[in-house]
Amino acid sequence: MGPCTITLNGITVKAITASLALCLGAGSAGACQRPEALRPLPPPPGPGITPAPLPAAAASAASDGGPPLDYRERLRPTPYGWPTRASWCVWIEPGATTGPAAVWDQRWLGAVAAALASWEQVLPIRRAQEPGQAHILIWRRKPRLQNNRASHGRAELELVEVERSGQWQIEPLVTVAISPGQAQTAIQATALHELGHAFGLWGHSDQASDVMAVSPGAKPLLQLSPRDRATLGWLYRQQGLNSGGVRPAAGPALPAPGAN
Ligand SMILES: [Zn+2]
Repeated sequence: MGPCTITLNGITVKAITASLALCLGAGSAGACQRPEALRPLPPPPGPGITPAPLPAAAASAASDGGPPLDYRERLRPTPYGWPTRASWCVWIEPGATTGPAAVWDQRWLGAVAAALASWEQVLPIRRAQEPGQAHILIWRRKPRLQNNRASHGRAELELVEVERSGQWQIEPLVTVAISPGQAQTAIQATALHELGHAFGLWGHSDQASDVMAVSPGAKPLLQLSPRDRATLGWLYRQQGLNSGGVRPAAGPALPAPGAN
C-alpha cells in the first residue's frame, strides 16, 4: 500500500515540449485573491483520451551508471498541460487555539507548516487567508477510504477555469487531506509528500529515499531529496496550463469556491 492515493482528472492527449523557464522567486508579490468567477473545465480538446506519452526527454542518467538523477518519466501531465504555477496560494485549515483540542490541532499545524516550509525553499508560495483564495487547500482529516484502502494523506487535483481581472484562465485546484492521527514526524512526512503532488508531482518515485516514493520507508522523510528537487526543476521547465490556447467554456459561471 502506498502512502497515499492520487486522483488525476483525465490522461494526457498531447505531447509536451519544454518551454517555460522555472520562475523561482517570481510572481509571488501581492496577496492571494479570490477569483471573480470559477467554473468547471470543458472536456479536453482532441479525439479523446489516449495513453500518456512519455515526456520528451528520458530521465537524466547518473554519469556513474547509478540510478537516474530524477524521476520525470513517472509523472503524468493533464490534457491541458502540466499542472504547475508560477506562484501558489495555499490555505491550511485552522485549528483550535484553546481547549482540549488545541494541543493536537497545533501539533498538526506545526507539522504541516514545517512541510510547507520545505517546499517554500524551492517554490514561490503564499498563504491564503480563506479557502476561496487558494489553489491548494489542506484539511485536517483522515482521507476517505478508497478501494477499501486507508491512507494518512491524499491529494486530489481538479482543473477549473477562473476569471481574474476579466480574463479566464485554467488553474489547478488541489484538495489535500492530512490525517492528524499520526506521530508528528509522520504528519510532517505525509504533508511533505502530498504537497509534492499538489505542486505538480503527479507520480511516484521508485526509490525510498525520495519524498515522492511510492511507499514510505521506515523512517519519515522530512527533507526533499536531490532527486525530488531535480524532478521539480525539470517539471517547472515544461509547458504549464494556459499555453494551449484553450477556449473558454460555454455555460453559466459557478460561484467562487467557498462562496455562500
Ligand atoms: Zn503519493
